[in-house]
Amino acid sequence: MIELKKNIIKFAQHLNTTNLSPLRSGNLSIRVRLKNKTDGFLITPSGVRYELLSPKNIIFISLKGEYDKKGLEPSSEWKFHQDIYLNKKDCNAIVHAHSVNAAALSTHRINIPAFHYMVAVAGGENIRYADYETFGTRKLSINIIKALKNRDACLIANHGQVSCGSSLSEAFELAEELENICKQYLLARQIGKPKILSPNQMKKVLLKFKNYKK
Ligand SMILES: [Zn+2]
Repeated sequence: MIELKKNIIKFAQHLNTTNLSPLRSGNLSIRVRLKNKTDGFLITPSGVRYELLSPKNIIFISLKGEYDKKGLEPSSEWKFHQDIYLNKKDCNAIVHAHSVNAAALSTHRINIPAFHYMVAVAGGENIRYADYETFGTRKLSINIIKALKNRDACLIANHGQVSCGSSLSEAFELAEELENICKQYLLARQIGKPKILSPNQMKKVLLKFKNYKK
């Protein structure tokens, strides 16, 4: 468990240094499978600067939503992490960021179309947005689960983005990729409407990506 906690701290600090999520915004978690016990996940705490994190600050929450109330509070957004792990069995890690370009684009409440073939990196021919609800609520979780259907990442309206992966490094890379896609899309929209790839063109890309992952 200590190694997993150290890994969370390493990537939490990357959130700041890569500017994916400046200051204390954003959070991340790793799924923990325990023998003979309830499975759960480790998540960053609320209100601690990432450069000051130590392993004892990383909180375990069971998939039933139980955690030790005596210690630090987990991130106020822990409920959507719980719901993603319950709904996406192949997701082992989650990165949530208020990265500038994703947050800016999320305010338009539009799905990102296939303006670039890399949109397929999230698993489909577009990248959806989850409709707005107050952060930390179960209602927001429901919207996120819907947007993540057959996808590994989505925008969260007027908020930011969330990315899943089979490992924390994979989820983190996807979050960085999504931030880059949002930046390109915002730029492309400045001189009009970009041409969109056809479903057939995207199907070919998705097939290629699927083979890379094998
Ligand atoms: Zn957030």
